[in-house]
Amino acid sequence: GANKESPTSLQDIFISVKTTSKYHDSRIRLIQKTWYALARDETYFFTDGDDKQLNKDLGGHLINTNCTIGHSRRALSCKMAVEIDFYMASRKRWFCHLDDDVYLNVPSLLSLLQKYNHKQDWYLGKPSLRYPLEVVDRENPGMKLAFWFATGGAGFCISRSLALKMAPYASGGRFMTTAEQIRLPDDCTIGYIIEHLLKQHLTVIDLFHSHLEALYLIKRHQLEKQVTFSYSKYSGKLNVLDIDGFDIDQDPTRLKSLHCILFPTFHECQGFPGK
Ligand code: UDP
Ligand code: MN
Repeated sequence: GANKESPTSLQDIFISVKTTSKYHDSRIRLIQKTWYALARDETYFFTDGDDKQLNKDLGGHLINTNCTIGHSRRALSCKMAVEIDFYMASRKRWFCHLDDDVYLNVPSLLSLLQKYNHKQDWYLGKPSLRYPLEVVDRENPGMKLAFWFATGGAGFCISRSLALKMAPYASGGRFMTTAEQIRLPDDCTIGYIIEHLLKQHLTVIDLFHSHLEALYLIKRHQLEKQVTFSYSKYSGKLNVLDIDGFDIDQDPTRLKSLHCILFPTFHECQGFPGK
């Protein structure tokens, strides 16, 4: 019929990547060489400093938030506040947030979001804990409150309908005020707003993977379906996908190899040694 919704397409998704100046040359260039090619127009990068060349290479999508540099709660919630404000202005159906050490499987994200109605309230992501986060309730001294949140490092998506309901606590700079009230990191604050203040629920998507998981457990035949992947190195110990492909010194994060397994016809994948 005439008023039937069109299926969600890539242009309906706002892909928001949180980054910081010191990672432009490493992490953002790696994204640029891999999955970014599949979602150039939809992806925006939120950072804390100017980088003329990178901004040019990203089609003007490198946003300097002017938030303070650093890993402080304030700096990170300031960035999330700007991400949310840009999303609201974009009028798109979905807001998807990623860290800059995430590989996004773009076609898989699209097929996931096509299964959910953006006019309903959806908070899709993967918790990093097996239990809800418990914090002291500042409004009721002596009481505790518990809620689930999607870990930012695995990526999460919020439908427009839900984002509109979050606006009183999250847009127009109010996200920072909310984060300061509960004194929690940005991804926990998102969970607090959705689960505690709005009484909506996180829908767990097992296809999202942060480096808080053991990434070597993801098997070759499962790669195509997964939506996000990450990598990390803590005190010399690598947590990366266990996949064949480029040499470790050429591709320590394994994301270039992953990209060529998923999209073998890409220019960068000529002569790719994996299967
Ligand atoms: N980040 C940031 N400012 C900083 C440090 C990190 O915005 O001073 C961002 C970084 O770009 C990434 C996210 O925060 O998107 C998580 O950082 P990282 O992966 O370094 O740390 P993790 O929390 O995963 O150990
Ligand atoms: Mn990380």
